Amino acid sequence: MLAASFLAAVLAGYSAYGKQLNGNAYDFLVRLRGSLPAPSDRILIVAIDDASLHSFPKLPFDRSLDAQVLARICADKPAVVGIDIWFPEPSTSEADAALEAALKKCPPTVLAAAALVSASEWYEPIPPIAQSATTMGHVHALPDEDGVNRLVPLQKAAAGKQYWALALQCFRLMQPKPIAGNLDIPPLEDDDEVVIGDLHIPASRRFFAERSLLVNFEGSFRQFSFANVLGGQVPPETFAGKAVLIGTTAQGLGDFLFTPVSSSGLKMPGVEIHAHLLDTLLRRAFLVPWRDSAKVGAQVLIVILLGLALYYLRGAKLALVIAVLAVAVHVVPYWLLLGGHVVPAFSFAAAFWFPLFIGGGFQYWAVWRHFLTADATQYRLRRQMDFVTHEVRSPLTAIQGSGELIARYPLDDKRRQQMADLLQRESQRLSRMFTRFYDVERLLTGEIELRQDPVDLSAVVTAAVEHARPFADRKRIGLQVAISDPGGTRGDAELLEFAVYNLLSNAVKYSPEESVVSVTARRERDRAIIEVRDQGPGILPADAARIFERFYRTGVAVASDKPGYGLGLMFVQEIATHHGGLVAVESALGEGSLFRLSVPLRAD
Ligand code: ADP
Repeated sequence: MLAASFLAAVLAGYSAYGKQLNGNAYDFLVRLRGSLPAPSDRILIVAIDDASLHSFPKLPFDRSLDAQVLARICADKPAVVGIDIWFPEPSTSEADAALEAALKKCPPTVLAAAALVSASEWYEPIPPIAQSATTMGHVHALPDEDGVNRLVPLQKAAAGKQYWALALQCFRLMQPKPIAGNLDIPPLEDDDEVVIGDLHIPASRRFFAERSLLVNFEGSFRQFSFANVLGGQVPPETFAGKAVLIGTTAQGLGDFLFTPVSSSGLKMPGVEIHAHLLDTLLRRAFLVPWRDSAKVGAQVLIVILLGLALYYLRGAKLALVIAVLAVAVHVVPYWLLLGGHVVPAFSFAAAFWFPLFIGGGFQYWAVWRHFLTADATQYRLRRQMDFVTHEVRSPLTAIQGSGELIARYPLDDKRRQQMADLLQRESQRLSRMFTRFYDVERLLTGEIELRQDPVDLSAVVTAAVEHARPFADRKRIGLQVAISDPGGTRGDAELLEFAVYNLLSNAVKYSPEESVVSVTARRERDRAIIEVRDQGPGILPADAARIFERFYRTGVAVASDKPGYGLGLMFVQEIATHHGGLVAVESALGEGSLFRLSVPLRAD
């Protein structure tokens, strides 16, 4: 069961639903982490923000404005300038010339390129502008299916051409030449990583196409409004030695995406996402997803620990271990994230909760079933005890009495013989009663099959009457017997006799002295009908519905002080049912009762 639920948990983790939940869990943990150290102060953003649009409402901006801003930024040697603005077609020749001149005067610059959605063509700066910059980088992000942007592809290939990400190009240009900072020497690559100088970027091709890298979003960057930079409100030394990224952050311009840190639904401008990628590279704060084998291995470990706990521990110890495991399973992904490891938190939780519910549930069910069986056994034993006390009392009294008589008084031979006969008879009755009783019990619990002997019903009724006669005589009750060929059935003659005897003894027990109890046995179509009628107190309709229940006695019976345990009629009913028959009562208070036992005739 643990194995099945474990498999379900692993599959759930790989389903679309599980992927979404793993993504959400990842975002949650990233937000939970909050902004740890302040983000790299080596990155600044110059934002074409709402204020800038307010000052220069005409879009796209005149390129001479871009040129002026670049001149301001580059006045005091920034480390690199990444420009997330597109220059796909020529504007006025003066403006373009101004921009080209400004770019040439700047330290390293990276311009933005983007593949069209159709991926059939690149959207690049016009050649004179492109050639004035140091290099180009793509500005694609890679939102997941749920629209949240966790990854940025380091490489983007389309229409037979490939660009590295703008942030990666900025990073390279920030490195000292001769190798890392030299754009002529391409980064080293294998399936698992991209190497730039001594920086090994774990952007595995195996995990994501296009070598996408999880962006480690932490904190926010200092931003300066494009308009303010243009207006000279930002001193040039602010940018000295920094990586400066220029891009749009104005609400109306639409370059926004959800990110793991988009709390309260605030999207992040594209330029900021690229700044975070650059920050991730500069701080070497990579977030690396675990390989599938490691993930499944961890899930196996969780299930094994849980299984061992469920198997070996009970009670408080089990609760404690489960609580510790539950905490660990939910805390470890967070703790791993702090160390740069990304694990599917939902899948881990599923590997714990699925088996816990299914395995624990099964265990609970098994224990419960065991408890119920034990309870039923205990109940049966108690019932047996009740029966023994109930039925054994009268023969025992007789035996005791006879024993006492023999011991105390000198008896003549005839008397002694009578006593001995009585002792023998009653002790035989006792032993028969036990045998009967166990037969009935075993019949009830399904331990034995009913015997299927041919039964002569008139003999059954005669025997029961004879058995009850001494009891009736003692109360001077007349027994009227009318047996008219009731026919035969199949089953256990002794059990049937026991049932009829029970009806008769009840009739005698509850009837007043000197009344009449009549017994009839006859045939009606395919059934034999045996009726016992008395002139006793009768039974209320409400009671009549319940007297066949175990231990049920009517108020009248209890008040009458007649001994009884409310078990006899239950046995009668069981015996009737086992013979395919029925027992019913017709009665009204004060009018005597009629018990009718009917069994199907089966002559074969
Ligand atoms: P017991 O006689 O030991 O109490 P039974 O199961 O034989 O148990 O009967 C259940 C109850 O049904 C009796 O307690 C009594 O209240 C009622 N009952 C049974 N037979 C008669 C009868 N012939 N007349 C009146 N009440 C009866």
